[in-house]
Amino acid sequence: MSRRKLIAGNWKMYTSAVSAKELALAVVDGLGGRTDIDVALFPPYPWLGIVAAAVAGSNVIVGAQNVSFANEGAYTGEVSPTMLKEVGCTYSLVGHSERRHGLGETDDLLNRKTKAALAAGLKVIFCIGETLADREAGRTEAILDRQLTAGLLGLSSADAEMLVVAYEPVWAIGTGKVATTSQAQEAHAFVRHRFGELLGAPAAAKLTIQYGGSVKPDNAAELMAQPDIDGALVGGASLKADSFLAIVRASAI
Ligand code: PEP
Repeated sequence: MSRRKLIAGNWKMYTSAVSAKELALAVVDGLGGRTDIDVALFPPYPWLGIVAAAVAGSNVIVGAQNVSFANEGAYTGEVSPTMLKEVGCTYSLVGHSERRHGLGETDDLLNRKTKAALAAGLKVIFCIGETLADREAGRTEAILDRQLTAGLLGLSSADAEMLVVAYEPVWAIGTGKVATTSQAQEAHAFVRHRFGELLGAPAAAKLTIQYGGSVKPDNAAELMAQPDIDGALVGGASLKADSFLAIVRASAI
């Protein structure tokens, strides 16, 4: 089955109000209205409105890097899925390794965030991935299985339309170490198989599975040519329009 590629730029906690707007405008300009590939930008929360305004009228979409598990209430510092939609977001990341491992977010919390987002009509890029210790101990599939099973608990095949999965080996994020194409393809094929067991084979066949972890202009084409890799979640290389656009071009095959 041919699936559209989705290239997403995760700006993490970088950029200023001014540089975020410039970067968003440069991405829109560099894409030149092409519609053969989906492109999404994930700026820090305070710049979401600025970036949404900058990309308005283009095919570029905007997402948040995080979302609350609740849609309203006395939750100081949280941002709800409905608020994110109102400011122009189509997606939120859920479960990025910098939140799972860096900030201690649990499988249960990530499941609640996913459910809250979907209930509000906000799409989710659900991030999973093993650590180096997991991989070296031969636990990669067990970890991916656990993260998917717990994260998607209680979801139905109808929810699958609102989901993207990003496979991001933790040891490849921001390290310059990229998974080999066969390591990545093998993990993606496993994720698609397991997603099918959880939410049905037709949903799995349609599922967009992104690879993330040190994607750069010079390794994107080879990764994107793999049958189960449908896009990229790009951190460092998304902070410069030139390198991000080069990844988009290399991925549109
Ligand atoms: C990410 O932030 O999801 C990521 C993959 O970062 P990097 O591309 O810098 O490894």
